[in-house]
Amino acid sequence: MEASAIDQQALQRGDRRALAKAITLVESSLEQHREQAQQLLESLLPATGNSIRVGISGVPGVGKSTFIETFGLYLIEQGKRVAVLAVDPSSPLAGGSILGDKTRMEQLSRREEAYIRPSPASGALGGVAQKTRETMLLCEAAGYDVILVETVGVGQSEYQVAGMVDFFMVLMLPGGGDELQGIKRGILELADALVINKADGDSVQLARKARQHYNSAMNLLRHTSFWTPQVMTCSALKNDNIDAIWGMIVDYYFQALKADAFASKRARQNRDWMRQLLNEMLLQKLASNPRIKALLPELEQRVEAGGTTAYAAARQLIALL
Ligand code: GDP
Repeated sequence: MEASAIDQQALQRGDRRALAKAITLVESSLEQHREQAQQLLESLLPATGNSIRVGISGVPGVGKSTFIETFGLYLIEQGKRVAVLAVDPSSPLAGGSILGDKTRMEQLSRREEAYIRPSPASGALGGVAQKTRETMLLCEAAGYDVILVETVGVGQSEYQVAGMVDFFMVLMLPGGGDELQGIKRGILELADALVINKADGDSVQLARKARQHYNSAMNLLRHTSFWTPQVMTCSALKNDNIDAIWGMIVDYYFQALKADAFASKRARQNRDWMRQLLNEMLLQKLASNPRIKALLPELEQRVEAGGTTAYAAARQLIALL
């Protein structure tokens, strides 16, 4: 596929086919496609950034897809165009993962104002996150106002997603302790909001208690920014309190603007991401360097046998770069 084959103007007009083609290019691992994708992204860059990027995490079964469907439809009612992306590095399925699956968001996927893209299937987490970041830019260039990035609440993917969005929220269940919900302290520190879903029927009381519990837990964490993380309840199924959650995000947005923190957070995220890429590229370069490849097994043996120190061996390899 040629980058020139991608109709940039059509993409910027919001043409779905042009957008889908561009995302396919960005997701390709072929070196030649990577280069074309970078060219495309560079030329679209001025048209990006005009969205609110929201990360949504939570364990399987907490109601992520139900929430995204309800929330997405609500946003469309508010006149927004919504893109749903996903980061799922653990997908064993070649054709993509269940995250961001259209069949799980049937009503939303039928709307002209929504674009749903499942997680890129290939590669290490860094690769998946990279592709999702770039897809996010394409969606912004295509005029989507809200980008929802979904991830499962296990492993490193939450850190990756929190590092690419403006607002990161974790969906929770009304019952069960922290351990049961697989909530790690680190995740609470990442969250701009905890949203206790399924606050309906018999679970309303439980949800209220959980809210109190997490409110105190969050208060124990030291927050240095302008924003105090919120704990909310909702029912994605009954469409209850969904408007309040959007209200909270809008509130965050304006407070961030006022504190001069919105653009600077994105700038920091971009810089951190560049450093991460640099690390990965350096490692790749190391691994593919023929002189290093030749010397590595011997040095490893010597380190294992106690013939040289790990430090000296590492330095000797680096010196070959
Ligand atoms: P995901 O794995 O996090 O995407 O969770 P799903 O959206 O697939 O939801 C898992 C189950 O929880 C489904 O049976 C949903 O119908 C149900 N569910 C989702 N949200 C709610 C809610 O707000 N209230 C209730 N009672 N059930 C819900």
